[in-house]
Amino acid sequence: MSQQAPILIVGAGQAGAMAAAELRKLGHAERIVMVGGERHAPYERPPLSKAVLADASQQGQIGVHPPGFYAERDIDLRLGTTVTAIAPSHSVATCADGREIRFSACLLATGGSARILPDLPPGTPNVHYLRTLDDAARLREAMQRADEVLVIGGGFLGLETASTAVDLGLKVTVLEAPGGCSAAPPRPN
Ligand SMILES: Cc1cc2nc3c(=O)[nH]c(=O)nc-3n(C[C@H](O)[C@H](O)[C@H](O)COP(=O)(O)OP(=O)(O)OC[C@H]3O[C@@H](n4cnc5c(N)ncnc54)[C@H](O)[C@@H]3O)c2cc1C
Repeated sequence: MSQQAPILIVGAGQAGAMAAAELRKLGHAERIVMVGGERHAPYERPPLSKAVLADASQQGQIGVHPPGFYAERDIDLRLGTTVTAIAPSHSVATCADGREIRFSACLLATGGSARILPDLPPGTPNVHYLRTLDDAARLREAMQRADEVLVIGGGFLGLETASTAVDLGLKVTVLEAPGGCSAAPPRPN
């Protein structure tokens, strides 16, 4: 591996993980550093509203790449911290833990986030947003104690979650605004 500054990938989701793999496949020999805000190695989100929501044992099956993949390819995975600032003119990024990372090129693969309803911020008792593996684990535990669930949003994720809840024996109500939800402008994913 060369000693020049690494390629920095910000975001350890599916896009970041696939980009890192593709760079190695194409023969890029520079070091690769991937910084991810979550504490989990890159995983696929589609099962979060389906198999993983119903069954905790499925959690180990959803990695984008198998364990060992990143180390074998000299991809330096730094999890549980976010990049908080980037100075493009100096080719340096700063992480929430204060560390600086110099880079030769930087890919922003920071993905999307759930649309927060202003009256129901995260942390509101008995309210869950579903975006991450940790969200799915909390929601699964809550559904095990509940007998009824209100799903706000009748899009794919809402309906998949509703279907999983029905399979788990819960009474389910889905709330969908006519013409789509207008609580806040949509965020890009
Ligand atoms: C429950 C659920 C079910 C889904 N089901 C389907 C499906 O069936 N079919 C389908 O096609 N799509 C589905 N999707 C959508 C699909 O998962 C997304 O399109 C995909 O996750 C996008 O990948 P990404 O890597 O671009 O972004 P993300 O998955 O959002 O990953 C981005 C990562 O970057 C991290 N990050 C953000 N900012 C920073 C920062 N500053 N520093 C460090 N890290 C940062 C985030 O923590 C996150 O881990 C589903 C999504 C969800 C939530």
